[in-house]
Amino acid sequence: MAGEAVLENYVGGAWVRAVAPDALDVPDPSTGARIARVPRSGATDVDAAVAAARAAFPAWRDVPVAERARRVLALRERLESHSTELVASVVRENGKTVEEARGSVRRGIEAVEFAAAAPTTMQGAFLEDVSAGVDTTLLRQPLGVVAGITPFNFPVMIPLWMAPLALVCGNAFVLKPSERVPLSAAFLARLIAEAGFPPGTFNLVHGDAAAVDALLTHPGVDAVSFVGSAPTARHVYATAAAHGKRVQALSGAKNHLIVMPDADLERSVPAILSSAFGQSGERCLAGSVVLAVDPVGDRLVERLAAAVRALRVGPAADGATAVGPVIRPEHQARVLRWIEEGEAGGAEVAARGAAPAPGDGFYVAPVLFDRVRPEMAIAQEEIFGPVLAVVRVPSLEEALRVANRSRFGNAAAIFTKDGKAAREFAHRIEAGMVGVNVGVPAPAAYFPFVGWKGSFYGDLHATGRDAVEFYTRKKVVTTRWF
Ligand code: NAD
Repeated sequence: MAGEAVLENYVGGAWVRAVAPDALDVPDPSTGARIARVPRSGATDVDAAVAAARAAFPAWRDVPVAERARRVLALRERLESHSTELVASVVRENGKTVEEARGSVRRGIEAVEFAAAAPTTMQGAFLEDVSAGVDTTLLRQPLGVVAGITPFNFPVMIPLWMAPLALVCGNAFVLKPSERVPLSAAFLARLIAEAGFPPGTFNLVHGDAAAVDALLTHPGVDAVSFVGSAPTARHVYATAAAHGKRVQALSGAKNHLIVMPDADLERSVPAILSSAFGQSGERCLAGSVVLAVDPVGDRLVERLAAAVRALRVGPAADGATAVGPVIRPEHQARVLRWIEEGEAGGAEVAARGAAPAPGDGFYVAPVLFDRVRPEMAIAQEEIFGPVLAVVRVPSLEEALRVANRSRFGNAAAIFTKDGKAAREFAHRIEAGMVGVNVGVPAPAAYFPFVGWKGSFYGDLHATGRDAVEFYTRKKVVTTRWF
C-alpha cells in the first residue's frame, strides 16, 4: 500500500530505524491519502542522535569558519538545484499552493545565504590598552549541541532558519521536525549530508511530544530553538530553561490589520486577502483581525466580501487554487467550530467562499466575518484557518487600543496614505513585525524575526544577528605580555 514505509531517522551520518515501535500516518491534506508513516521516536532514539552530535562537535568546531561556510554554500547550490522537488514536497505534505511553497523555499534559501556570512557575522571585538599593556579580546564560540523543533506550516523554511546557521557557527545540530510534515525534513537531511557536513554534525529525529521532551531534558543538549503553537512554546521554554538550556521559543499569534479611511483599497484589499487567506490562514504572520476605521467599513467589507466569494478552494497542486486544504481533519474540525462560534456569538457572515464537497481533502470554505466585537473569542484566539474578522472602530486611537490588548504581538499592519498615521502606528503598536501597506511583514533573514508578548519566549530571536548571538557564546580574553 502507498506510503506504508516508516521513515528513518538520520543519526551519525546514517539512516536508522527508530527503536520506538509506534508510527503515525502522514496524509496528503489535499486528498487524505497516506503518503508516509513517521516513527514516534522516544528517549532512546533521541539519546542516539544527541550522542552522535556530541561526538561530532569537538572536531567540527575546529574546522575553520570559512570552511564551514563553504559547506553552507554547497548546501545553497543543492537547495537551488533541487528547489522544484522541495517545492513539490511542501505542496504535497503541507497543502500550500505551488506559489506559496515556492516563496517559502526561497525564504529558506535566503536564510542559508545569511548563514554563509558567518566569517563576518561571527567576528568579535578587540580593544587595545584597556589598562597599561593590557588588551581585551571578545570571541564568539559555539555552544555545543543545538536542538531545533519545528512546526508544520513551513516544512523547509523554518528548519533552514535554524540548522545552517547553528552549524556554521560550529555547533552540532539535532532537528525534530513536525511529525505532520516529515518528508521535506528528510529531503533536507539528504541535501545537508551531500553538502559535506561531517557525520553527526546534523541529525534528524522524527517524532512528536515524546521526542521533544527527551530533547528538552537531555543533559547533552545545550540550546533549543523552537517554533510552534503557544501552549507548546510555553512548555518548551519552561522545561528547557529548567534543565539549564538556552531557549528561544517562537509562539502563536493573532495579527491585526488596521485600515484607515484614506487607504488605497484597490491595492490594500488584495494584500489583506493574501495575508488572511493565503496558505489557508496557516501562517504565524496571517492577518486575522481587520480594524476598519470609520467610515471605511462598508466600502472595505463590500470589496473584501466579493474577493472572498471568488477565492478558489482546492487541491494544493492545482494551479487555479487560491486556498488549499488545512493540515489535518482535526484541525479542519477545530476551524469549523470557530466559525460556528463566531456565528453563534452574533458576528455577521459577510461572505463565505465555496469549498470542494466534503470527502477526501481537509478543506475549509473561507469566511469573512463583519461587526465582530473585540472581546469575542474569534477576535482573540489564533484560529489558524481561512477566517477573517472585521472589527469596526471609530478612530486610529481605538484601533491601537484594541490591537494592543491582544496577548500576542507577532505582527501588525496599517493600510493608509497618511505618513503621520503610519508613523504613529509603527511607534505605538505592541507587535514586533510591523507593516505599512504590507500585509505580511516577514523580515528578510538578515533581520531578526521579532515576536513580542505571548508570541515569543526568550531573549534572542530567530534569524539575523540575534540568531548568530543565540548560536554562540561570548568569551572575553584579557591579555598582558610580560
Ligand atoms: P505545535 O505546537 O503543534 O508543534 C510544534 C512542534 O512541537 C512540533 O515539532 C511538535 O511535534 C511539537 N509538539 C507539539 N505538541 C507538543 C507537546 N505537547 N509537547 C512537546 N512537543 C510538542 O505547532 P504547529 O501546529 O505545528 O504549528 C503551528 C503553530 O506554530 C501556530 O500557533 C503558529 O502561530 C506557530 N508558528 C509561529 C511562528 C513564529 O514565528 N512565531 C512561525 C510559524 C508557526
